[in-house]
Amino acid sequence: MIASLNQSDRGIYIMTHIPSFPGRVALILSAIAFITSLCHAAEGTGEIPSPKDAPRVVSADPGKPPSDALVLFGGTNLSEWRTEKNEEAKWEIANGVVTVNGTGNIVTRKEFGDCQLHVEFATPAEVKGDGQNRGNSGIKFMGVYEIQVLDSYNNPTYWNGSAGSVYRQVAPLVNASRKPGEWQVYDIVFHAPAFDGKGVLNKPAFVTIIHNGVVVQDHTQILGPTSPPGAPKYVAHPAKQPLLLQDHHARVQYRNIWIREL
Ligand code: MG
Repeated sequence: MIASLNQSDRGIYIMTHIPSFPGRVALILSAIAFITSLCHAAEGTGEIPSPKDAPRVVSADPGKPPSDALVLFGGTNLSEWRTEKNEEAKWEIANGVVTVNGTGNIVTRKEFGDCQLHVEFATPAEVKGDGQNRGNSGIKFMGVYEIQVLDSYNNPTYWNGSAGSVYRQVAPLVNASRKPGEWQVYDIVFHAPAFDGKGVLNKPAFVTIIHNGVVVQDHTQILGPTSPPGAPKYVAHPAKQPLLLQDHHARVQYRNIWIREL
């Protein structure tokens, strides 16, 4: 009889033909146990994983570059960098730190698309100026998409131009800035835009930024190049381009810069 009923009719039949409350409870519990056992059996039927599909092993000690990272500045030289005129980078190096010194932007000798970037920076301990004139520098992915570096500790400016912003586009979710002169950290995941063969945008760029351990950009869509001012508009470019550090005439310091291609 019960086997000939559909599922909902079967439920009604059980609830009306098993009169005692304890009996109904026991029946429901046994049904739950049966379904759970089926689920567990299904989990165990997966194929044995192939070693060739195992994630590549990367050694990673907190505070050190991962084993597969390219160190862009490790404290002693700027050999991975050049000027935009293809000359030797001339920023000052001392005590494991490189300082912006007014000799112009520097760019990496290698080119990058999708990447993970780690940068430590400190804005000048001696506070001069305000707004955009206080501790300004920047990290321009592919040379054109700037993540702002600025002394944003008690320093109001247009919010989409403060530290952790996609410059002139998207303000950080929160202000996680440390005091002037204190070391700060950006860990950034950048996904490059893609263009078709005719230069039409297929996919915009995206960026996620963790500033001093705090998420300040969460898979944020970049609207186009961050300069010149005005409505951002993508202009087609190669899949990989150099990373740029901005000389904005403030003695911002950098150390421990490394990058992983994704
Ligand atoms: Mg800047």
